[in-house]
Amino acid sequence: MKQYDIKMKKSLGQNFLVEPQILQRLVEVAEIDSETTVIEIGPGIGALTEFLALSAKKVLAFEIDQRFVNILQDTLSPYENVEVIHRDILKVDFSQSDYAYLHQSKRLVVVANLPYYITTPIIMHLLASQLSFDSLVMMMQKEVAERMTAQVGTKAYNSLTVAIQLQMKAELAFIVPPTVFMPRPNVDSAVLKLTSLENPSHNFKNSRSFQQFVQACFKQRRKTLWNNLKVYYPNQEATYLESCFAKADISPSRRAETLNLDEFIKLFNILSERN
Ligand code: SAM
Repeated sequence: MKQYDIKMKKSLGQNFLVEPQILQRLVEVAEIDSETTVIEIGPGIGALTEFLALSAKKVLAFEIDQRFVNILQDTLSPYENVEVIHRDILKVDFSQSDYAYLHQSKRLVVVANLPYYITTPIIMHLLASQLSFDSLVMMMQKEVAERMTAQVGTKAYNSLTVAIQLQMKAELAFIVPPTVFMPRPNVDSAVLKLTSLENPSHNFKNSRSFQQFVQACFKQRRKTLWNNLKVYYPNQEATYLESCFAKADISPSRRAETLNLDEFIKLFNILSERN
């Protein structure tokens, strides 16, 4: 950074990993081998990218900050299997023909030390991309990783947990202290590993409206499902809503945090028959 006379931008979540052991562990958790194509988000000055390039078939890295793209052209010049693209990852459309080869890759994984200010939008963007990821291994704020891996009935369980676990198996791989970053963030971090589910349990057409339904169930966390859903379906009579709860065999006096994924899906499907 000194050599290139660059200062980090806090607004872009620029906290760089400076501990090689952590970089190596990320590569191991993602099980990268010579048949693996890796998408990296936010390579920065390329410390993680270099570790990835040593094991992977190809690394495709998206960096929003032009200053780093210039540096990466130098630092990664020895690696022919790395492509750096100057772009905001949230604006990347993976259905474009430029990325067609990603759909064909034998193993496709995401590895990233994410910019924390947009962790959830990035994950939702990737999961909506129609790419068949084998896994996503991502450093994030520990609290967010805990929410994504939360069990039913816990404080951390919320609509984000349901959105993630609907599509992926979520595991907390390891916890990381602030000391391995430069500059040090004010929070603990954790590496989350999401793995594709072999048999996703959902069988509904509109996953977007399912997400909205789950968010509505959690809208006022301390309120019952009945109170939250009465507001979400203002035009439905109480007797109809009651009959849907009965058909789903779910008590309307329960709170959203007590429902497992299958119960959310069952209730949503029954309520969607008429809406
Ligand atoms: N990979 C490096 C490392 O581990 O040391 C840097 C990680 S740093 C936490 C996050 C990186 O993401 C920064 O390089 C930042 O410029 C980049 N970034 C922030 N927002 C981005 C976005 N929307 N799209 C792509 N990259 C982004």
